[in-house]
Amino acid sequence: MTRLLEVRDLRVEFRTRDGVAEAVGGVSYGLDAGRTLAVLGESGSGKSVTAQAVMGILDSPPGRVTGGQVLFRGRDLLTMGARERRRIRGAAMAMIFQDALSALNPVVSVGAQLAEMYEAHRGMSRKDARRRAVELMDRVRIPAAGQRAGDYPHQFSGGMRQRIMIAMAMALEPELIIADEPTTALDVTVQAQVMDLLAELRREYAMGLVLITHDLGVVADVADTIAVMYAGRIVETAPVRDLYRRPAHPYTRGLLDSVPRVDHRGERLYAIKGAPPSPLTMPSGCPFHPRCPRAQDICRAERPPLYEVAADAGTDAGADKRTSACHFWKEELHG
Ligand code: SF4
Ligand code: MG
Repeated sequence: MTRLLEVRDLRVEFRTRDGVAEAVGGVSYGLDAGRTLAVLGESGSGKSVTAQAVMGILDSPPGRVTGGQVLFRGRDLLTMGARERRRIRGAAMAMIFQDALSALNPVVSVGAQLAEMYEAHRGMSRKDARRRAVELMDRVRIPAAGQRAGDYPHQFSGGMRQRIMIAMAMALEPELIIADEPTTALDVTVQAQVMDLLAELRREYAMGLVLITHDLGVVADVADTIAVMYAGRIVETAPVRDLYRRPAHPYTRGLLDSVPRVDHRGERLYAIKGAPPSPLTMPSGCPFHPRCPRAQDICRAERPPLYEVAADAGTDAGADKRTSACHFWKEELHG
């Protein structure tokens, strides 16, 4: 079966005043139709930049894809003709951002913004498009959708705005949605409601979902697979239950051991000391070695490849192989 999305060895560089920074250093991940992949990492790990490159919305210049493939149903978006690429990215793929207020048009009512999608892409009459827009607002549980369709984005609460963003993304029934920290700006209780809605719609429409987050707490119930990113690379991939039960990378273990802070939008106190490196000052060998409790001499000298974690090592198996970019993944896995 052809995968819905397959990112292969993607590389992205940024030109900065201090030189060229490799923000994404050869990232590969994929998902099948109807599945959810969570991409987890601290800010600056390259998870958003990877998604922006997939969607073709990298700021350019100074950001630039320098290598790799982005296969959508087996065809490379990076090399196909511009018109077809626009068509796929416009209708078959959609993105949800953290900040709905800056993603929505502030001077157009939300009903009109939704209706515009149907007019432009489905050739609906204005009247039909408006009716569909209200149905969709109702579907994402905006109370009194009919009356509120004429309101502007700033007249909605943060949670309601995020529902409207989800509605915008869903309008054309895409095959793939990429959601970049969709609930990070919201209060904890609202976060859960918005995440539940997203998961419910994903199921109903059998969409693929790439869920980008820094918060392990939000992915446990919704993701099938997790890819953990650090310093512009993937350091571990695993089915979600395997990863929680037995991580195969010290960084993942550090994330799991972090403590949720109930007072502060579900953020966590990282159990890992120190900060991630800048792409301009990447440590030798394993980029995690300055923070790693398990680091040995070899870690400072040799960058670990992405090892395939053996299938007998406690995995749920399935299509998604477990991988770990740690010389000592066996030791990590076995305690
Ligand atoms: Fe830690 Fe070494 Fe594994 Fe890197 S390779 S995560 S430094 S043990
Ligand atoms: Mg980000």
